[in-house]
Amino acid sequence: MISIAVDGPSGSGKSSLAKSISKMLGILYLDTGALYRAIGYTCLNQLGEDITEAQVYALLPALTVDLGYQDSVQHVYVNGEDVSSFIRTQPVAMAASKVSAFPQVRAFLLDLQRSIAAKNDVIMDGRDVGTVILPNADVKIFLTAKPEVRASRRVGELAEKGIQADFDTVLKEVLQRDHNDSTRAVAPLKQADDAVLLDNSLRDAEQTVNDALEIIRSKVSL
Ligand code: C5P
Repeated sequence: MISIAVDGPSGSGKSSLAKSISKMLGILYLDTGALYRAIGYTCLNQLGEDITEAQVYALLPALTVDLGYQDSVQHVYVNGEDVSSFIRTQPVAMAASKVSAFPQVRAFLLDLQRSIAAKNDVIMDGRDVGTVILPNADVKIFLTAKPEVRASRRVGELAEKGIQADFDTVLKEVLQRDHNDSTRAVAPLKQADDAVLLDNSLRDAEQTVNDALEIIRSKVSL
C-alpha cells in the first residue's frame, strides 16, 4: 500500500490539497482532523467549553468513532450518528484542538487511522501523520503558510459562506491553535525529519497541487 502524509498547521490548505491529489491519483483521502473534531464536538455537547482531561477520559469508553465514505466523501460517525455536518464550526475546532492534546484521545484514534492506511492507498492529512501515525509513509509533505495568509484565507472562506469575520479575531484563533498544536507534550505539530517542506504563502491552490505532485512523483509511481 502507498501512503502519503500531509501535515501542517491549520489553514495551510492541507485538506484542499489532499482532496485534489486523492481524486487525481485515485487513492483514498483520510482527513484525520475530522476524527478529533468528532470527539471535540461530542465533548462540547456533553461537557461544555471548559473540558478537563478527566472528564473526557470518563466519556471515551462509551464512544465509538468510525469513518465511512459516500461518493468518495468522508463521513465521520460517533456512536453510529453521522456528525460530519456539525464539526466544521469554530467552537468545535477549538474543542478539537483542546482534546487532541490529551494522550488517551490520541491513543484512542491511533488504530483506526493506521488500519485504514494498512488496507488502502491513502493520502492522509493532519498534524502527526508523518511523525507518529505513519512514520514509514512513502511520501511526507509538511505544508505551511504564514499565519496572516492562513487567517486571510479563512476570512475569505467564511465570506463565501456569507459569514463576515474579523481578520484580527481569526488571526488570533489561528495563532492560538498553532500554539496548542505545536506545544502539546504528545504528538506535537512538527515537521518530520524526512518530510519535504512546502510553504504556499505565495502559491495558489493549483500551484500547490502541482508542487505536491512533483514531490509525490519523485518518490513513488502512482
Ligand atoms: O485539521 P483540522 O483543523 O480539522 O483539525 C482540528 C484539530 O484537531 C486541530 O487543531 C488539531 O488540534 C487536531 N488534530 C490533531 N492531529 C491530527 C489532526 C488534527 O491534533 N492528526
